Amino acid sequence: MINTKQTNESEYTIIETNSPEETFAFAKQMAEEAKPGEVITLDGDLGVGKTVFAQGIAEGLGITGPVNSPTFTILQVYEEGRMPLYHFDVYRIADPEEMDEIGYEDCFYGEGVTLIEWAELIPEILPAKYRAVKIEKDLDKGFDYRKITVQNIGGNKSCGF
Ligand code: ADP
Ligand code: MG
Repeated sequence: MINTKQTNESEYTIIETNSPEETFAFAKQMAEEAKPGEVITLDGDLGVGKTVFAQGIAEGLGITGPVNSPTFTILQVYEEGRMPLYHFDVYRIADPEEMDEIGYEDCFYGEGVTLIEWAELIPEILPAKYRAVKIEKDLDKGFDYRKITVQNIGGNKSCGF
């Protein structure tokens, strides 16, 4: 990735991107290396690039159709890739019980990749082990600058990302 700096801190990795293409490419690479059952949480303010990131994840799994924010459905399932993608957007969840009704456990503990936008709203049902992705802007560093922090929660600290 051009112009992308990677800094390894003790427990997390920071990736800095300067275009949507770089964010997409990073997410795509992450999905290419993802294993069945992997859960990725995705947090960040509106317009920061969560959908761009989700589209990169989908591409990395070999999903060819359009991927948007599943804002009004909470869960969108894509089956056409090398493994299923369970794409959650829990922004409009009022009560974690709604997640039970959706059958989230079959996704979180299944054989696909789970991507959860706005996961900070459902901390009580996140699995013991997941990869937390946070995207932030820093307007002092430019309009297209994004800081992506990747942290392995409950897992191996010396993981590749
Ligand atoms: P969200 O889903 O978080 O609300 P979107 O992915 O829909 O955000 O929108 C992000 C917007 O920011 C897009 O218009 C995208 O082109 C733009 N953008 C600019 N720079 C970047 C970057 N480095 N990474 C991701 N998106 C970027
Ligand atoms: Mg979005």
